[in-house]
Amino acid sequence: MTYVVTEPCITVKDHACVDVCPVDCFYEGKDQILIHPDECIDCGACEPECPVTAIFAADAVPEKWAAFTEKNAAPFKAGEALPKSQKRADWEAEKEREGTPANQYYKDFPKQG
Ligand code: SF4
Ligand code: SF4
Repeated sequence: MTYVVTEPCITVKDHACVDVCPVDCFYEGKDQILIHPDECIDCGACEPECPVTAIFAADAVPEKWAAFTEKNAAPFKAGEALPKSQKRADWEAEKEREGTPANQYYKDFPKQG
């Protein structure tokens, strides 16, 4: 099994989950953070850390977000070399700096409403 990141991460992506993962298996997807399904050891530590309840065990993903299981796995199956996710403090610091991936992310995916 694995854990899966779902829709609520999009526009939030605060990297809180990254700080607690013992195997560093979070990666930077374009619109959300992703869990590498072959590296995740199913410890469950990340799930309660997410402020928007985006993380679920694969067998508990809500039906409306079922497609996210494949969305998390697809880049890795395709052999894409996605960047590893930074710890939260590094991401937060980078947000403030023009031209960084973190700064660009919140321009590309602004919070709605
Ligand atoms: S369940 Fe554990 S190993 Fe898997 S992504 Fe979350 S913190 Fe990392
Ligand atoms: S804690 Fe939740 S919202 Fe933040 S990056 Fe991880 S999955 Fe996304």
